Amino acid sequence: MDQSGVSAPIRASDALKKKLAKIGLHREADLLVHLPLRYEDETRITPVARAPWGEPVQVEVLVASCEVQFRPRRQMVVRAADDSGEITLRFFSFYPSQQAALSEGSRLRAFGEVRGGFFGAEMVHPRFRKIADDEPLPTELTPIYPSTAGLANSALQKLIGKALAVGDLSDTLPDDLRQSLKLPGLARSLRFLHTPPTGTEVDTLHARNHPAWRRVKFDEVLAQQLSLRRAYLARREQGAPVLVARDDLGARLVDQLPFGLTGAQLRAMAEIAGDLAQPYPMQRLLQGDVGAGKTIVAALAACQAISAGWQAAFMAPTEILAEQHYVKLKGWLEPLGVRVAWLSGSLKSKAKREQLAATAAEAQLVVGTHALIQDGVDFARLGLAIVDEQHRFGVAQRLALRKKGSNPHQLMMSATPIPRTLAMSYYADLDVTVLDELPPGRTPIKTRLVADSRRDDVVGFVKKLVEEGRQAYWVCPLIEESEALQLQTAQDTYTQLLADLPGLTVGLVHGRLKADEKQMVMAAFAAGDIDVLVATTVIEVGVDVPNASLMVIEHAERFGLSQLHQLRGRVGRGQYESSCVLIYAGPLGEIARQRLKIIFEHTDGFEIARQDLQIRGPGEFVGARQSGVPLLRYADLELDADLVEMARNVAEEMLTQHPELAECHLQRWLGSREELLRS
Ligand code: ADP
Ligand code: MG
Repeated sequence: MDQSGVSAPIRASDALKKKLAKIGLHREADLLVHLPLRYEDETRITPVARAPWGEPVQVEVLVASCEVQFRPRRQMVVRAADDSGEITLRFFSFYPSQQAALSEGSRLRAFGEVRGGFFGAEMVHPRFRKIADDEPLPTELTPIYPSTAGLANSALQKLIGKALAVGDLSDTLPDDLRQSLKLPGLARSLRFLHTPPTGTEVDTLHARNHPAWRRVKFDEVLAQQLSLRRAYLARREQGAPVLVARDDLGARLVDQLPFGLTGAQLRAMAEIAGDLAQPYPMQRLLQGDVGAGKTIVAALAACQAISAGWQAAFMAPTEILAEQHYVKLKGWLEPLGVRVAWLSGSLKSKAKREQLAATAAEAQLVVGTHALIQDGVDFARLGLAIVDEQHRFGVAQRLALRKKGSNPHQLMMSATPIPRTLAMSYYADLDVTVLDELPPGRTPIKTRLVADSRRDDVVGFVKKLVEEGRQAYWVCPLIEESEALQLQTAQDTYTQLLADLPGLTVGLVHGRLKADEKQMVMAAFAAGDIDVLVATTVIEVGVDVPNASLMVIEHAERFGLSQLHQLRGRVGRGQYESSCVLIYAGPLGEIARQRLKIIFEHTDGFEIARQDLQIRGPGEFVGARQSGVPLLRYADLELDADLVEMARNVAEEMLTQHPELAECHLQRWLGSREELLRS
């Protein structure tokens, strides 16, 4: 495939080019892979009188009149007829050019659903074409392309037809490889999908499991894998500090811990230790369910960097979480002589900025929020950047932290477990370590679903629990539309619980509190001075208070599954039997009902994630901010999971054995979009 051929721009008028660009069509090559959304059968004409209502049909009619009416709303009404009967065509939006085509005496083929209107049969917004008297019927199905306002399907069809005739359809899969994968050739597949041969069933094409569709989906997934894999290999060409421990700091930390490390933690540590000692930057994702013990693994990685004479930075997405990490890491490391610093909030005043920047320059471990990546914060020797709850950060923020040093190693952590096929797409440019074992002695969390009307029972349960010396979280309903309303609800809940729970200490924490106010509340809760903590989802991630054994979530039906799982993970962290009470208000929608059922039945984060993917689809799942956002148009990560596995292996082989084919493949399927993939 010739490079210039692939990148040749589409030849068309400027106006047309503008419209094409709107739907991502810039190059001739883009046209070839712009595939139909669906197909319509225009090979047959149905007499008006015999058109079944509610089914798409094509009629051929003569226009009797065409007028624009203004009541009850602006519309163009066309009366037309064939030998069998009359039909009204109605358009609520139209162009002058369309009006002209519909003048009296015009012969039309109109395609759409016939319904019964006031004046008998009618079609609303049919697709139509003016034809000559003896125009033959097409013999093939009509592809309907994704389009934009003012760009007619027939125009796209014409452009694509031309591109198919002259464009480069050479196969980027070598024949033997293609055959071993049992996939049809590319040219054949594209031609089939753009112009299905006579006799092909519409249903077969719509099902999208035809071999031609499989080929297209495979190519698309392969492009994604090639791109991610190439980014992964390119990283190995960059230099990074070699972090080899020069003393026994890590071992001393382990000795000091009140617990022994789990097998999974030891394995993860060993992998990370190996990476840090390499001369190229680590980019490892440490995945582990809520409570798996990721923090200590990160702390040990930091020890290795510090012991090698470099700095480590630890960034967390919320003040509460960052503060908690700071307290914990300081408690672990300061006794061992490590200088730990705290950076948070926006650094507004110059004095404050200078002071904090100086700390950052000197400290061996700096913990903080995204304040870490602000201008004015400079690290003298950043060797390792740790990002907790990495899915909460955007790509740009993670990059910014990396830029604070010259190619520091990067350790990302996430408690959002994602299914394997998704991980292969989203994280193919990372190395992944999974903590697949929870620390011993965790008591399983009991989950209860309670209807709104039984809120009093829950209040009684809280009282009893506090009498036993435990603490509880009470999470307020999520109100996504309005932060102000959310705040109001939190305050109302707080007031209500104060009244319901006389003699108990009730605290309130929400996103609008100042950082130090938040810290005070959290510290009081951690110290046991607050019995019941009313909170918004600010406590969703990471918060760790082992004596808290009850999580109450109000209006649980409004939360997403991963949020519920995260929130539930705030309890069950100590030796006490813990429970999570989900209060819901009916009537429940279908998705809400499914979600509550899943969270009730499962505690394993991976299983919850897998089911979540099924009800939500991958789009929302990892968030568009992930590096490696796949931008798949045709393949579906869940349904086409087998293709992802296949493509991953092929990508590896192509990059080493057929780099020029790999390049062509990327050009064809991604073109300029590849930059979006790699960030
Ligand atoms: P997460 O993976 O959710 O970030 P944390 O690192 O916050 O989990 O750990 C959860 C709790 O488990 C903390 O209190 C931590 O000190 C404790 N912990 C971590 N590892 C172990 C272990 N091996 N044995 C016992 N407790 C552990
Ligand atoms: Mg954590």
